[in-house]
Amino acid sequence: MIIAVDGPTASGKGTIARALAAHFGLPHLDTGLLYRAAGRQVALAGGDPDCEADALAACAFPDDLLQDPELRSETTGGLASRVSIHPAVRESLYQRQRAFALQPGGAVLDGRDIGTVIAPEADAKLFVTASVGARAKRRFLEMADSGRAANLGEVAADLAARDERDRSRRHAPLRAAADAMPLDTSDMTAEQAVAAAIALVEDRLRS
Ligand code: C5P
Repeated sequence: MIIAVDGPTASGKGTIARALAAHFGLPHLDTGLLYRAAGRQVALAGGDPDCEADALAACAFPDDLLQDPELRSETTGGLASRVSIHPAVRESLYQRQRAFALQPGGAVLDGRDIGTVIAPEADAKLFVTASVGARAKRRFLEMADSGRAANLGEVAADLAARDERDRSRRHAPLRAAADAMPLDTSDMTAEQAVAAAIALVEDRLRS
């Protein structure tokens, strides 16, 4: 069984995907981490994230980079969004994601194009959204919790810029698959969002 969870930054898709994986006993892949690692690797190598050749070379990042706490920063999120525009980068990271989705027993993957490109045949697809205000507040609190100084207005502006780039890119833009179930988490706690997601997926699996 494959479950695809897509949506913009800080919509709650990561929390939901992890909870679905635990609930159904499936392995989980946060595909954004792969793009974040490529973005971070470009910066470490002194390359240009807007240059396709530099971004492609960065896809050969060492696996231990996936543990780097800097991957979670908004700076790296912005770099990830810039490298993810290039078709060669998306192709390079495709096989790894596709193989994860097709493993025996199935998997839960979260990202931007899981339901549309990586696993269009997924048994259940969720498209998780929340208002920019709600998402900025969540990201701001997360940053404050981990001791990183942040300014709410700047966090909201960064999120809006990244959304715009992800939605308007030519290859695999952020969009809901036609058969995805929408879930707006703006006014939900994490627990409520997880419960709603489990109910939607169970419903879909029964139908
Ligand atoms: O989900 P996360 O915020 O970690 O993703 C970082 C960036 O990686 C996104 O803004 C997006 O540009 C890119 N991404 C993507 N396709 C995915 C996952 C992430 O293009 N499946």
